[in-house]
Amino acid sequence: MDEKKRYQEVIDLLNRYSHEYYVMDQPTVEDVVYDQLNQELLAIEERHPDWITSDSPSQRVGGEVLEGFVKVAHQTPMLSLGNAFSQEDLLNFDRQVREKVGDEREYMCELKIDGLAVSLIYENGIYKQGATRGDGTIGEDITANLRTIRSVPMKLRQPFSIEVRGEAYMPKKSFKELNEIREEEGQMLFANPRNAAAGSLRQLDTKVAAKRNLDIFLYSVADFGEMGVAKHSEGLEMLADLGLKVNKERRVCQTMEEVFAYIEEWTEKRASLDYDIDGIVLKVNDLSQQETLGNRVKTPRWSIAYKFPAEEVPTKLLDIELNVGRTGVVTPTAVLEPAFVAGTTVSRASLHNEDLIHEKDIRIGDTVVIKKAGDIIPEVIRSIPEERDGTQTEFHMPEICPTCGSELVRLEEEVALRCINPKCPAQLKEGLIHFVSRNAMNIDGLGEKVVMQLFDQQLIQDVADLYFLSKEELLKLERMGEKSVTNLLHSIEVSKENSLERLLFGLGIRHVGAKAARTLAMKFETIDRLKEAAKEELTETPDVGEIMADSVVTYFENEEVHELLNELKKAGVNMTYTGPRPSDLDEEALVFKDKTVVLTGKLEQFTRNDAKALIEQLGGNVSGSVSKKTDLVVAGSDAGSKLAKAQELGITVLSEADLLNYLPDKGGV
Ligand code: NAD
Repeated sequence: MDEKKRYQEVIDLLNRYSHEYYVMDQPTVEDVVYDQLNQELLAIEERHPDWITSDSPSQRVGGEVLEGFVKVAHQTPMLSLGNAFSQEDLLNFDRQVREKVGDEREYMCELKIDGLAVSLIYENGIYKQGATRGDGTIGEDITANLRTIRSVPMKLRQPFSIEVRGEAYMPKKSFKELNEIREEEGQMLFANPRNAAAGSLRQLDTKVAAKRNLDIFLYSVADFGEMGVAKHSEGLEMLADLGLKVNKERRVCQTMEEVFAYIEEWTEKRASLDYDIDGIVLKVNDLSQQETLGNRVKTPRWSIAYKFPAEEVPTKLLDIELNVGRTGVVTPTAVLEPAFVAGTTVSRASLHNEDLIHEKDIRIGDTVVIKKAGDIIPEVIRSIPEERDGTQTEFHMPEICPTCGSELVRLEEEVALRCINPKCPAQLKEGLIHFVSRNAMNIDGLGEKVVMQLFDQQLIQDVADLYFLSKEELLKLERMGEKSVTNLLHSIEVSKENSLERLLFGLGIRHVGAKAARTLAMKFETIDRLKEAAKEELTETPDVGEIMADSVVTYFENEEVHELLNELKKAGVNMTYTGPRPSDLDEEALVFKDKTVVLTGKLEQFTRNDAKALIEQLGGNVSGSVSKKTDLVVAGSDAGSKLAKAQELGITVLSEADLLNYLPDKGGV
């Protein structure tokens, strides 16, 4: 892909993520993903300054202002901060500062509170107005909501007229409690305390904000000079004297060694704080030097934020549970003492298989270290054998299926153990959940819980039964009212019209992922033709190898499958391909054109081959190892050294969800 096109793509992605993060308070990617894209944007703009337009994310702070709030214009813009990710970045920053103001400089180091920036206006010492940062120039009036924060004084100790700025945040404890309640109520969980704080303060109903136990730290004044102080540190002391809450953990450092020591100290101690911090902020302490250095469009030249790397946290492995998946694979899952890692509380993590558990020397009752793989998926990295007290027990996989009791088998060349009983209730349930899922038949309103109930009450045994459910039957289910039943029946009805590839994927034929289902549906057009296809015909299809072909043939040889298909036909489910043809794909759709892409980690929705085929269909080349020539890395769970290398080289990392977005019916092609 040419660089200009990539530039536009990066802008579009950043704009989308910013909107989700700042406006909706519901990010869909981790901050690292956003930060990497942002770094890529800055690098492109450095090479091509003439491409920069005023709507580039590099020129704008934050997000737009929400409808429904009164807008507030900031007299002095509320800026963001430049980011540093390493000691080297910080040394560069220091070098640039010294070039302008000389070697006599000192830095105020502060904790970077992970909340949202707000401004508080006091007139003659009386609290008058509170606002969000918004887009830096215009924010939202949240005066009433900020008033609900007990540490925001309504009156200062002296009648100052000032605009103070700081970070409103949600303490970790409140965040955990809030999410627990939301989970019980079936509401969407907040991704992290920052989004929870933002979501609470940007509520039109003040009563909601009042219940959320928010807090605040103040860290600057729109114009410190007005207060007659010469240093930022003196300004902070003055704010504290006025009765405003200022974070105590700040420290003035004379040398970069002192700065690094401060960072090291807080990297270790951050978990013990009752609020989330995502880094350290460095500020040139002398206000006249700050003025000499001045600001860029979006960030000051006298300050920088150092961001912490992904967290590793110790916790207890309480138990190992077994899950039987759709294809019968029995996966050991770690049940952990809930621990807060990189912004969320983790209590479960897949341990994948017995071999890995032994390789990592993990025993039940151990203290283990967990992290978020790629900062997204919880993972147990190792045990701490020194902390054993003799009560720990080694884990062994059972010989029989924990659900149906049939003997487990290990298929050739697989590490996993499988239950091969096709009637195993756990597998049937998972198969049903898969059938209705978004990338398969996409039946809205048929979540995991409803499927479980339907199955447990023997209203459905196989996927065809879904199409014969009656209103009366559904009304008997827990929490299903007239309206949800009508909606559900409608969704089931609509799903009958799906193009063949959704049904094929939904049937859960082994080795046939979403992409292969599409290739097969496109080539054979109807399920009857596919059913008749010989192995040779199948392997002639692009992306279909021997193993998949065998699996398809075996699947359609099964008498029970014939019966199932007959039932589905009777119900009126479409079995013909009605999706787009390759000729319908235009140049625009080739989002990976000329890009070298590396796949790493475990993908949930795609087989490796499907992911590869999709990338190739979209113009990309898939390579096995990460190098400077790599343009993109798609990382699934458990991504290891390749992901680390990609991050080291500053290569953009996409998640599996990003890749899914490029599937034809996701609007990608
Ligand atoms: P930032 O969080 O990188 O840094 C600037 C902000 O730090 C300030 O505006 C202020 O609110 C805050 N801050 C906290 N403590 C401070 C202190 N002691 N002194 C001064 N400021 C302090 O910048 P940003 O513009 O708020 O947000 C950008 C970041 O947001 C990105 O780096 C990314 O991590 C995240 N983001 C994520 C997504 C996503 O989709 N996941 C999208 C957009 C942004």
